[in-house]
Amino acid sequence: MGSAKIYLSSPHMSDEGYEKVYVREAFDTNWIAPLGKNVNEFEKEFSAKLGAKCAAALSSGTAAIHMALKAVGVGQDQERIDRHNRDIVFCPSMTFSATANPIIYQNAVPVFIDSDEESWNMSPVALEKAFQKYEGKVKAVLVAHLYGLSADLDKILALCNHYHVPLIEDAAESLGTLYKGKYTGTFGKYGIFSFNGNKIITTSGGGMVVANDPETSEERIAKIRFWATQSRDTARWYQHSELGYNYRMSNVVAGIGRGQLKVLDQRIAEKKNIFAFYQRAFEGLDGIEMMPVNDWNQPNYWLSCITLNGSVTPLDVLRALDEENIESRPIWKPMHLQPYYSECDFISQCESDPVDGELFKNSVCNSVSEKIFKQGVCLPSDTNMNEDDLERVVRIMKKLWR
Ligand SMILES: *Cc1c(COP(=O)(O)O)cnc(C)c1O
Repeated sequence: MGSAKIYLSSPHMSDEGYEKVYVREAFDTNWIAPLGKNVNEFEKEFSAKLGAKCAAALSSGTAAIHMALKAVGVGQDQERIDRHNRDIVFCPSMTFSATANPIIYQNAVPVFIDSDEESWNMSPVALEKAFQKYEGKVKAVLVAHLYGLSADLDKILALCNHYHVPLIEDAAESLGTLYKGKYTGTFGKYGIFSFNGNKIITTSGGGMVVANDPETSEERIAKIRFWATQSRDTARWYQHSELGYNYRMSNVVAGIGRGQLKVLDQRIAEKKNIFAFYQRAFEGLDGIEMMPVNDWNQPNYWLSCITLNGSVTPLDVLRALDEENIESRPIWKPMHLQPYYSECDFISQCESDPVDGELFKNSVCNSVSEKIFKQGVCLPSDTNMNEDDLERVVRIMKKLWR
């Protein structure tokens, strides 16, 4: 008898059935539409949970990034559309492509920033180099918090403030993660979240953008809602003074989100247990390290990731698990190594940095993001797993060390 498939991170509805209650209410009131009570309440409950000023529920995390970039003015000057004079946005190289793609939607140019070993996220050292190189041309810094680990926000914000450039946080993977006691997504001018199927909570698909400016947030979010519903002017007829988008969340989907929000803390606790299980199980195995959880970080542990720098390689692990019907996957392949983005600039934290250069003496890597990509693996982190499933994963992996 074959064993059941183990997933990386699959949807996990509440045992109590909260989601169904809200979805049923949408059906009972025939509010099967974009907008409606669930959307309004989801926005309020979400902001309240994070301590954000206000929020707009959108059709995806990608749409949320697009709207946040537009809101800080990326690509707004149409006369600057000529190729050599476009707005620049700093963006981590090691991330999912959905972080970077909306920069292109806005006719801007991404400059990819290396990661550091302490956070696996945007390196403040590389960011500073980038600011020196592109001073005066940068319209926004887009930081991501991968796998539920938070970037070093104090250092990044200090640089943004010094150069007067707004920060946007891609917190798609870090809902519920705390940086020094405060939720990620609430530090930048805007924070964005995703409720895609494999995220820590899901609505089947969806996103949220929060604004964190104490004075102007209501206004800014209202503007985003306006763009996201086709930019309809207040007029008797369909009149449009601005380009519109169809990016709002549906009322049915928002019902799932309201239910899922109630179990967010529970999911974080479960994800943390999964991480701790792996950590204990791998003690004493040669060349294996858990992703970095440092002092400033209280992750949501969305995915448990490891790096391997001994005789067992990431490919060995991916293959061994795959053969047993267990899903795992590589770390995000850096954007500067993607064919689509091959012409974009990349700022490594290693170049002309002899101390960090030492790290790569025996390897072909010339950036931290590349090193993490080559050594990293995301292990099954599904909260639907039980202890037997976790033991199965670990048993299969440990065979590789014999
Ligand atoms: C999932 C994800 C997104 C995109 O969210 P969607 O809701 O799928 O559009 C953006 N950035 C990161 C880092 C993600 O993991």
